[in-house]
Amino acid sequence: MSKVLIIEDEQAIAELEKDYLELYDFEVSIEHDGQKGLDRALLENYDIVIVDLMLPSVDGFEVCKRIREVKDIPILVVSAKKEDIDKIRGLELGADDYITKPFSPSELVARVKAHLSRYERLVKSGTGQENAFIEIRGIKIDKTARRVFINGEEKILTTKEFDLLAFLASNPNHVYTKEELFKQIWNMDSIGDIATVTVHIKKIREKIELNTAKPQYIETIWGVGYRFKV
Ligand code: CA
Repeated sequence: MSKVLIIEDEQAIAELEKDYLELYDFEVSIEHDGQKGLDRALLENYDIVIVDLMLPSVDGFEVCKRIREVKDIPILVVSAKKEDIDKIRGLELGADDYITKPFSPSELVARVKAHLSRYERLVKSGTGQENAFIEIRGIKIDKTARRVFINGEEKILTTKEFDLLAFLASNPNHVYTKEELFKQIWNMDSIGDIATVTVHIKKIREKIELNTAKPQYIETIWGVGYRFKV
């Protein structure tokens, strides 16, 4: 049975989350205060933490950051704050995902399950970086053979397109700036022509997306960069 810690000061929301998760056999604990929640997250063994952003004593950003410093368990941020900047801050501080209130409880359960199974796969495979295959929502990336398939149909990517896609997909939900991606894929320390990254993302999307206006794999985080959505 997976153990979930909910850090949420709105009692009704915390109870709603708990009720739904318990329906799916999760063992759920609730803390209403940021500091108390953080202490429990650090001292006890939870499989996943669901954290609100606006909390008494210590806010959700700080909670994410402090948990991430010592633990690699999935952290799911649930908040009423809709601004993208908050979304990004949460993700940059180590949260794995973000749900905006109001949300459907079944969506919450689905995301919790998805993150737990991904985490279990990562733990089982050691670092997660060694997995030869990445397979999600119709895309299959064979890192050893360097081949990409969409619903079974092979797509031909250039070397750098493949490197960029494989890197993003190997670090799902992590937001990378264009500078970071340029440095990572093109191996240059100096600030190069980061427009190269934009051009490559565009070309990858043309090859792997059904509708490039609504990409389902690589998401643009406006003003920041890109992430591979899980
Ligand atoms: Ca709150």
